[in-house]
Amino acid sequence: MNKVNTDFIKEIQKYGAFDITACFNCGNCTAVCPLSQEDGSFPRKMIRYAQIGLKDKLLDKKEMWMCYYCGKCSETCPRQAEPGAFMSALRKYAIAKQDITGFSQLLFKMPWLNFIFLMFVALVFALFLYGVRVENAENEKIIEIFHIPYHLIHDMGIIILAIAGFALLAGIIMMLFRSLDIKELIPIFKEKKPGVKTLIWLLIKEAWNVGWGEMLAFKRYQGCDAEEDTKGEKRETKVGFLMKPWFLHATIAWGFFGLFTATVLDFLFKDPAIRVPLWYPPRLLGTIAGIFLIYGTSVVIVKRVIAKEKKYSNTTFADWWFLLALWYIGLTGFILEILVYLPEVDPKTADILFLFHVAPAMELIVLAAYTKLAHVFYRPIVLFSYNLKKQLLNLKTSPREEKQSDNE
Ligand code: SF4
Ligand code: SF4
Repeated sequence: MNKVNTDFIKEIQKYGAFDITACFNCGNCTAVCPLSQEDGSFPRKMIRYAQIGLKDKLLDKKEMWMCYYCGKCSETCPRQAEPGAFMSALRKYAIAKQDITGFSQLLFKMPWLNFIFLMFVALVFALFLYGVRVENAENEKIIEIFHIPYHLIHDMGIIILAIAGFALLAGIIMMLFRSLDIKELIPIFKEKKPGVKTLIWLLIKEAWNVGWGEMLAFKRYQGCDAEEDTKGEKRETKVGFLMKPWFLHATIAWGFFGLFTATVLDFLFKDPAIRVPLWYPPRLLGTIAGIFLIYGTSVVIVKRVIAKEKKYSNTTFADWWFLLALWYIGLTGFILEILVYLPEVDPKTADILFLFHVAPAMELIVLAAYTKLAHVFYRPIVLFSYNLKKQLLNLKTSPREEKQSDNE
């Protein structure tokens, strides 16, 4: 049974939605949306659900994850209800609801907490870098400034990372179950009876479609570039390739994934004392990814400051924080990399830069489950689950079953 939540509109506004009570359901937004489909119509339907307070029904919908906030719907809305901003707010709301600790809600509603958390992470790293490690009477290593045992800071870091990892994993599992909807899935299995081979094939196919198509090639997002002319025919927008919204989004995603992979590879396989050449594969990957990240975030920041295009005109604090953090991490990472190749670098300068780079990077990773970054994990999971269910539904019933129902 769907519960009606009369305060839902007020709640969703805290995440960046505008006055959706202004919407009179004309349907313009759905008509112009390049990504809305028959089996997943939005944003009009989603706004209607919000207006009547069907919060749970909304959260179960895949549609919010199908939208890439191209802003076309907001441009055509005759009531300035900003349907694009509503869809974006809905995703943030879903991220917050997925978090079992409630910390995500706090971060979205009280964004200054991000800053306090960043200061905390910076302090922990500063202790690591600058604290003088000495041994106390019990032969225990302590940081001399505050008499904090060295192992305590180390353990604290591991505990924080473990909690963050657990929260993200819990969110991913909950999202997977929510979108697969076991109650709906069991009857499909009973009816279609897919064999193991078919099931494995479908799992691989959908994982590829989402992994490659959605997360790396952004095939659906590329669909936002098409515009309908007066005759209703689709044509490409006139924006240059390097400025296309999907490409900018892709450069940020490629940059982020690339830098993350390069850091993990470095950590696993590289001796920190050895200076590797620029063409060392993880270093090369990191350099290229850094260029992508700096390019994408810089252009989007400028576009958001100018705020001429609808897509970039409504920026919440959470959007700014996320974007600026990525830009800053990319830039400081790049400067650090250049420093490595300079002949004479004062170790203290390198340490300070390292601190300024690592603290926000760690903050971003530790808060992955609680901030806008979570969409990177949730969007593919939801689309994977729904596509898989769709494929299962489209399976032909096994011949044995058909025979049985004929006899009946
Ligand atoms: S959001 Fe605007 S365009 Fe969409 S249905 Fe409502 S009034 Fe119409
Ligand atoms: S922002 Fe773009 S993709 Fe999202 S609902 Fe509006 S038109 Fe569709």
